[in-house]
Amino acid sequence: MAATIDEHAPLLGEPVEQNLARDANLNGDAAKRDADRRRATRVRVITHGVLSLVFVAGLVIVLFFWEKVGRAVGALPKNPEQAARRVLESAPVIDGHIDLPILVRSLYHNNLSAFDLNHPIPGHVDIPRLREGKVGGFFWSTYVGCPQASYEDDDYDFLNATWRVRDTLEQIDVSKLLISKYSDTFSLALTSTDVKYAIMGGKIAGLLGVEGGHQLGNSIAVLRQFQELGVRYVTLTHTCHNAFADSCGLQPGIKPKWGGLSKLGYALIREMNRLGVLVDLSHTSDDTARQALKYSKAPVIWSHSSARAVHDVPRNVPDDVLELVGIGANKTDAVIMVNFAPFFVADPGKANVQTVADHVDHIAKVAGKAHVGLGSDFDGIGEVPEGLEDVSKYPALIAELYRRGWDRFDLAGLTGRNLLRVMEGAERVARDLQNAGTEPAYDVYDQREDL
Ligand SMILES: [Zn+2]
Repeated sequence: MAATIDEHAPLLGEPVEQNLARDANLNGDAAKRDADRRRATRVRVITHGVLSLVFVAGLVIVLFFWEKVGRAVGALPKNPEQAARRVLESAPVIDGHIDLPILVRSLYHNNLSAFDLNHPIPGHVDIPRLREGKVGGFFWSTYVGCPQASYEDDDYDFLNATWRVRDTLEQIDVSKLLISKYSDTFSLALTSTDVKYAIMGGKIAGLLGVEGGHQLGNSIAVLRQFQELGVRYVTLTHTCHNAFADSCGLQPGIKPKWGGLSKLGYALIREMNRLGVLVDLSHTSDDTARQALKYSKAPVIWSHSSARAVHDVPRNVPDDVLELVGIGANKTDAVIMVNFAPFFVADPGKANVQTVADHVDHIAKVAGKAHVGLGSDFDGIGEVPEGLEDVSKYPALIAELYRRGWDRFDLAGLTGRNLLRVMEGAERVARDLQNAGTEPAYDVYDQREDL
């Protein structure tokens, strides 16, 4: 059967002609393979060339246009409220000044069993509202007021022992107790790295700040002990002068006692630099601020102050001081964290999201966007701006600035990155000073005769 013969034919060998024919076919295949190889080589060369070009172009983009590309790639939604939420998801608010501890002192006598932060409490701050407002951290102000006599008496000598050191210890205590009682939410932060880890872990970083040199009992040794307890900024004054520096007071026209910093005040700044405690210039006189800016080796902060050119009150920072802030020759790195208190923001009845944004915009215009932050003063202010009633409302301010052209990088600086940079700077200076073997400051207030 033909089929059978065909099946066996290969085993029996093939006629020469057929072999020749096959060889001829083989030669044809080789030529085809050669052509394929050449085509493949050409494709490889072209592909390689194109890839090299793409690589070089990519490198050029990365090296020269990264910021612009980054901005385009990370474009935010057009809707300002959605854009604000997006920014705050990756760059939550780190507020420079929140007065929850003094509210807990005055309402609950520091008794933590008398209230539950997981539920609404009076004032501007509780955990549900902090979460709603996309807060990633804040300085708990361990504030207690000035000794009454130092308000009134120009010749107050700062020698009378007061209870302010005890009271400050109680406020540090209640802050740390709250942070640890609500440890699912809060995490005590002692460094900028701690803040970042807290945020990465979904927590709210808890930092401690002392609001006035009077709370140190006018003693540098007390500063050292507060630092040991976790305090990371000290406001040089509150509304009273103290042994270290002049305050701007409450109303215009307060008579200076030192003309800025006292001799002990300079020693205090040296020690704060050495310890990595931020110098806070809110509440100080303009001369105190100018001298401290010039003298501090570390970056400084205004934990809760706005712009005097926008609203003229002594607590706000004037333009000639803002002009000293920056990076470069004759400038000091700093962050001015805008205060929401209506009295500091605008004429009566006019404080709202827009007027607060005006302060942010103005400080950014004079000092630069890298030098502005948020220091609401929530729980320390009786009234609030319209639209910024409590800690749940930060997104409204971010949305307003987005409407005004602030991009995601500027906004992330405002919400926390600028403060973190300043903290990192202060930590670096402290490390350098300690590595260089800088001695602690042993200066004592020269009116004292007991020490
Ligand atoms: Zn204050």
